[in-house]
Amino acid sequence: SADVRLTGRTRVLTVSNQKGGVGKTTTAVNVAAALASVGAKVLVIDLDPQGNASTALGVPHTADIPSVYDVLIDEFPLADIVQVSPESPNLLCAPSTIHLAGAEIELVSQVAREHRLKTALDEYLASLEEHIDFVLIDCPPSLGLLTINAFTAAGELLIPIQCEYYALEGLSQLLGTVRMIQKHLNPGLTLSTIVLTMYDGRTRLAQQVAEEVREHFAKEVLDTVIPRSVRVSEAPSFGQTVIAYDGQSAGAIAYREAAVEIIRRDGLPAAVKNAAGESA
Ligand code: ADP
Ligand code: MG
Repeated sequence: SADVRLTGRTRVLTVSNQKGGVGKTTTAVNVAAALASVGAKVLVIDLDPQGNASTALGVPHTADIPSVYDVLIDEFPLADIVQVSPESPNLLCAPSTIHLAGAEIELVSQVAREHRLKTALDEYLASLEEHIDFVLIDCPPSLGLLTINAFTAAGELLIPIQCEYYALEGLSQLLGTVRMIQKHLNPGLTLSTIVLTMYDGRTRLAQQVAEEVREHFAKEVLDTVIPRSVRVSEAPSFGQTVIAYDGQSAGAIAYREAAVEIIRRDGLPAAVKNAAGESA
């Protein structure tokens, strides 16, 4: 069993990248399931109208199910929509439904439109008797109001990067948005974690991109790399994460190692760690 030390705080990580298909949802649900498998209590908030995270966690999210839409637009308490994943009692999910597709527009005219998720999450965490160790927010592939709500609610940003030719393109736009959020909405937001996903070490290109990302973001990139693996891509069609679907597969092993790294890097900025006398 993994040697993990949980912090006693609730770490809120938003899994974001405005590019689609880079492994945001796959990383959010599999890191969440891996964290739950080592004893952490984890909530996944599905902020993508496509609801892929809800599907992968085996949680019903048809149009009639109360969802994150009702929380953001009609101020439902988060507790009223959270479901337990059949995979683990430690794994909770606030599902998305197709209604969320309209929320991006509907939020524009709402009061405190950037803070709605944060307010709901803070109330939820304060109302629980049980401690939640991690909240992972799965973002849609855009930098609209849904993603801004995630950035406002989170302490940490986790960026999945696919090791392909255009990997770094668009990253400066993402980091520009993060600086804007830090300045105006959430000074506590930190880029804590970068995960290299869908890695195929047989290609020179993937190796070069990985090297380049590690040069730019030496502290943030996890040592663990997520390999391209058929088992990872098959799991959601069974309503499962790869941790449950095939726990001995290379993808499951990599996501468990990534989760342990995330636990060990306690999410504090390097400056705080240095001040505490720990090595950066
Ligand atoms: P995003 O949420 O950023 O749009 P997804 O997590 O949905 O990206 O991943 C995009 C596609 O790539 C999906 O079909 C997913 O199953 C597949 N995929 C993601 N990670 C892997 C992996 N490690 N190996 C194989 N396929 C993967
Ligand atoms: Mg997604």
